[in-house]
Amino acid sequence: MTDEKPAESGATIIDGKVYAERVREQVAAEVVRLKAEHGLQPGLAVVLVGDDPASQIYVRSKGEQSLAAGMHSVTHRLPEATSQDELLALVAQLNADPAIHGILVQLPLPKHLDANAVLAILDPAKDVDGLTMISVGRLASGLPGLYPCTPLGSLILLRETLGSLAGLNAVVVGRSMLVGRPIAQLLLQADCTVTVAHSKTRDLPALCRTADILVAAIGRPRMIKADWIKPGATVIDVGINRVPFDDPVKAAEGRTKVVGDVDFKAAKAVAGAITPAPGGVGLMTVAVLLANTVQAAKAIAGVD
Ligand code: NAP
Repeated sequence: MTDEKPAESGATIIDGKVYAERVREQVAAEVVRLKAEHGLQPGLAVVLVGDDPASQIYVRSKGEQSLAAGMHSVTHRLPEATSQDELLALVAQLNADPAIHGILVQLPLPKHLDANAVLAILDPAKDVDGLTMISVGRLASGLPGLYPCTPLGSLILLRETLGSLAGLNAVVVGRSMLVGRPIAQLLLQADCTVTVAHSKTRDLPALCRTADILVAAIGRPRMIKADWIKPGATVIDVGINRVPFDDPVKAAEGRTKVVGDVDFKAAKAVAGAITPAPGGVGLMTVAVLLANTVQAAKAIAGVD
């Protein structure tokens, strides 16, 4: 752990900013080396269809951070009315572009577009979001590969906080393809004993209390309560939920803020270590995307 602030309770706050910065620094140094020693500049292409405000922010940040790391970076902004064929044609063009080593199609897509059809043609060697069937299969088989960014970011935070995870009981609440399942697979690879919980799980609070590592990837604001947490456990809150301000005056003005899936204020009195949301896992996602792009570029170029 680095300079996390001890909470009143003694729990430590896992600062995503510190670890994301560290990953970005490693990426930038590796990009310098690859350019100097191999004439290789890792290239990332991000594709955004439509004008979802949250996606616009994520995509801008991916473009800015990849440029800041010295990478080649292109962003394709397509109109909402883009057809499936037009989107597939762009992905095929990026598959064939030797300057591009990583392709990320920002999800969710507008309703008339089929994300699975996009993932079916996306070159797995350039799948820096880790969502193609090849990437999913490699992760599930325990093979090295391109792993999804938010789950890998969560694992990095856990390793930085705890060191070895071997033998720890991990409970992952949420089983989505984007977050819950890949986190569970990564924890299994790290030799945890993993339980995956979901909306049909019985007595979720009791199950959560068995966890040395509790991962919340639910999408329900502050659902995990303090008395669901085993004292001293490490809590990773992946949730990003927009809610009205607690202050009724601000709420009446329609003002909102972001909170996680864990009741952070109460939980930090019980947990041993906990990620804030925002300020935790969310900051790791783009940093890991850059690291994945460097990894993809090296594999494609056959460079160590
Ligand atoms: P999702 O696809 O909606 O999946 C939510 C999961 O939570 C499902 O498996 C669902 O169970 C489970 N769930 C829902 N209600 C539950 C309940 N009452 N008890 C137990 N389990 C319940 O969401 P997601 O894409 O995985 O995202 C989860 C959260 O992570 C969201 O807040 C999202 O914004 C956030 N997120 C953050 C990042 C980041 O960069 N930090 C990236 C991606 C997502 P069923 O399968 O049974 O329906």
